Amino acid sequence: MDEIINALCSEDAMPQDFEGLRLPDSYRGVVVRKEETGLFEGLASTDKDPRKSLHVQDVEVPLPSVGEALVAVMSSSVNHNTVWSSIFEPLPTFGFLERYARLSSSTARHDQPFHVLGSDLAGVVLRTGPGVNAWKPGDRVVAHCLSVELESAHGHGDTMLDPEQRIWGFETNFGGLAELALVKSNQLMPKPEHLSWEEAAASGLVNSTAYRQLVSRNGAGMKQGDNVLIWGASGGLGSYATQLALAGGADPVCVVSSARKAELCRSMGAKAIVDRDAEGYKFWKDEHTQDPKEWKRFGKRIRELTGGEDVDIVFEHPGRETFGASVYVTRKGGTIVTCASTSGYNHEYDNRYLWMSLKRIIGSHFANYREAWEANRLIAKGRIHPTLSKVHALENCGQAVHDVHHNLHQGKVGVLALAPREGLGVRDEEMRARHLDAINRFRAVREPVS
Ligand code: NAP
Repeated sequence: MDEIINALCSEDAMPQDFEGLRLPDSYRGVVVRKEETGLFEGLASTDKDPRKSLHVQDVEVPLPSVGEALVAVMSSSVNHNTVWSSIFEPLPTFGFLERYARLSSSTARHDQPFHVLGSDLAGVVLRTGPGVNAWKPGDRVVAHCLSVELESAHGHGDTMLDPEQRIWGFETNFGGLAELALVKSNQLMPKPEHLSWEEAAASGLVNSTAYRQLVSRNGAGMKQGDNVLIWGASGGLGSYATQLALAGGADPVCVVSSARKAELCRSMGAKAIVDRDAEGYKFWKDEHTQDPKEWKRFGKRIRELTGGEDVDIVFEHPGRETFGASVYVTRKGGTIVTCASTSGYNHEYDNRYLWMSLKRIIGSHFANYREAWEANRLIAKGRIHPTLSKVHALENCGQAVHDVHHNLHQGKVGVLALAPREGLGVRDEEMRARHLDAINRFRAVREPVS
């Protein structure tokens, strides 16, 4: 691995320097273990501790098969799917791996007693498999997390509709929270060169998801002037949704749970901000009963912030706790677009407010290659910026995932893999200088690698 690290850290390494590099037999990856899926049985979700279930383990190097690439991972980031994998909710991810392994002889290796997690990376291509022409060893890349087979006609309009669609590093093995990672070559995209490795690795999953959900015609198809209610507006998805709304000429109404998070939204340019904690909304009277008076109070507050208008789009992901309110506050003919159910997936809402006001609920999930590419292009153009707040070493990934599980973070949390320290990998210093304040927006809350 030393030879690889030297090439990676050399600022004048050429693509041909990577072609001849000898691969190690094994690499270190962050895993959950099949034998431990019962670890948290009987505990409430909040008591399930990722620091106990996540391990850094040596893993045999998988050689790239047809259409695949092996990437040296300089940096990765924590997403909420790693939280779900680490607490084995709603199901242990080993079932996904077993199903994928049954597909073909080359996918069989995904079924292992360990699952290397992680759905983001920034790094350098080390090897490509047969049939890969667009990428070569030495290419500096980021990866999006859509894994598709595309053997069925159903995936050829929108690749998210492929029957064999999976999220890499969640429903497949050999993910990005590791020194090496195995991806399909059609997951690769050029690394934005004004960013360091850890900044470049922060955005892929959440930025692409927010792009499809909000901007794409497959999602809400946001337009200029739209009022967009964004739950968790300084979190992983929300910090990108807020930027996408502002960059697209829409008006975000940002919901957060602290004054510090409200300040982060203001620093991105948002003006309308609701501190749900300070304002004390309680949409549920008890476990089974919602309180429409609270929906109304919330709607009234939104109108105060928008000059009397309701929201055209609600960017939904908290799920059960907020969905009734989200349906209520959407304007007549407006859209609720949902990609998750963090607080519970059995949603309840008063359907009279949906059908009589001709509202639409749209389901959205990650993004196709084209949408992920467009989202990455916005980063490369300096229109959208990474919202990295803190960076951990690979050995400390359990703590990083614990913090996201307990909503102790802002924006994105990074994890260094082969990059020996933060700040490396920038090649376009001039562009970086132009956007430095925006790149560092969440930096005020960033602490050094732990
Ligand atoms: P995150 O970084 O943890 O941010 C989520 C934010 O939502 C939190 O910071 C919190 O902000 C807010 N929130 C949490 N619980 C809430 C509640 N009960 N009521 C109101 N607001 C609440 O996570 P993320 O990366 O944004 O992901 C959010 C969810 O989307 C996760 O469940 C994740 O698995 C899912 N997701 C799905 C896809 C997909 O492709 N389908 C992609 C990415 C993520 P405040 O405390 O400041 O309000």
